Amino acid sequence: MKCKICKAEAAVALRSHNAAFCPACYKEFFARQVTRGIEGQNLFSHEERVLVALSGGKDSLALMLELSRQGYNVTGLHIDLGIPGSSAAARGVTERFCAKHGLRLMVKEMVTEGLAIPLVKARLHRPICSACGKIKRYFFNKIAMEDGYDALATGHNLDDEVARLFSNTLRWDTAYLSDQGPRLDSENGFVRKVKPLWRLTEFETANYAFLMGIENHYAPCPYSPGASFSVLKGLLQQLEAAMPGRKLDYYQGFLARGRPVFARREAEQGQALRPCPQCGYPTSSGDLCGVCRIRAALRDTDADRTDLPENRVEG
Ligand code: SF4
Ligand code: ZN
Repeated sequence: MKCKICKAEAAVALRSHNAAFCPACYKEFFARQVTRGIEGQNLFSHEERVLVALSGGKDSLALMLELSRQGYNVTGLHIDLGIPGSSAAARGVTERFCAKHGLRLMVKEMVTEGLAIPLVKARLHRPICSACGKIKRYFFNKIAMEDGYDALATGHNLDDEVARLFSNTLRWDTAYLSDQGPRLDSENGFVRKVKPLWRLTEFETANYAFLMGIENHYAPCPYSPGASFSVLKGLLQQLEAAMPGRKLDYYQGFLARGRPVFARREAEQGQALRPCPQCGYPTSSGDLCGVCRIRAALRDTDADRTDLPENRVEG
């Protein structure tokens, strides 16, 4: 197969675009899609400061690299969750990647915050991924706000977005449908959140990461539930195989015609956000935010443990 652009030997074939590319033309194709994703949804400008959430996975590293190649003002932020066997590997990949490409990186350690994920899991007896997600979102937002970034970028790709959209519509979760999209404006203590890879599939991003020599991180989280998202992604893959290009059409159709309807409804009926009385983070609970509630629950379990006979100091 020949490259659609230069007619050299093709390395990547994309049915959804009815095209094949050689490595050099593929990198240009990827860059064009990122640019279209940013400019088409007005995600951020070259003058703005963008904080990029770096998990150590190929999507976030590919995003960081491409944004820096396009001259955007980017800084990476990695959250070290303190999970044995997984976090050190993720952090190592991220640090080596940023050092290799001369990119700015900040690392926030959950161990020093008293929120290492194994500790939270052992004490709280609740599904850990929900608490872990809350903690990550909290610190990404807090650091972006405190350090005055204009936007927080994540490496979510088209497959992530379409699976989430499908899941939200299966539950008709109108609150989530109202603010799903590549750009969520800054408001009430939340930084603007952006997803510049929204036009690119997992396969397309993986090809870019491979061609750019991005090191792969092979130490998955031991708590990974194997999520229902994989089932939805499998179904969507079948749809895409039968109808190439349908995923992007579905998502773009939602952005143009679905989301505005849900956003209007939510603006009329949605819950107001208030600052958490403990830390100031915006919350709709009317009380402590999710992370302050996790901290309070950890303190309660600490208190319970000092009540145990073996912890009592006899006077
Ligand atoms: Fe956190 Fe769950 Fe992801 Fe592990 S799988 S990093 S616990 S969200
Ligand atoms: Zn709080």
